[in-house]
Amino acid sequence: MKIKVMKEHKRRAIELIDLAIKEAEKNELDLARRYVSLAVNYANKYKFKLPLKYKRKFCRKCFTPLIPGLTERRRIKNKVIVVSCVCCGWIRRYPVKKTDKGS
Ligand SMILES: [Zn+2]
Repeated sequence: MKIKVMKEHKRRAIELIDLAIKEAEKNELDLARRYVSLAVNYANKYKFKLPLKYKRKFCRKCFTPLIPGLTERRRIKNKVIVVSCVCCGWIRRYPVKKTDKGS
């Protein structure tokens, strides 16, 4: 039973992030941040991990969904992807994987 409830929270959190991305695309960044922070709060409260794919979709510092060309700046340097948040300047580096076909 508990696992089922957990799945429900996780599904909800993922939905919130998807929604946040849609709002960010419409330039509703305040609303988008609120959705992301809600999703993060869900994850903390119910102790589940957001899928890596989703974790990389928002800025961990200001919760802005990262959209390339809009809120995200992306550069590839020495096989490392350098992602930075345009809103707060937060920088994250990811190694480039050979199997990575891009996002
Ligand atoms: Zn940020």
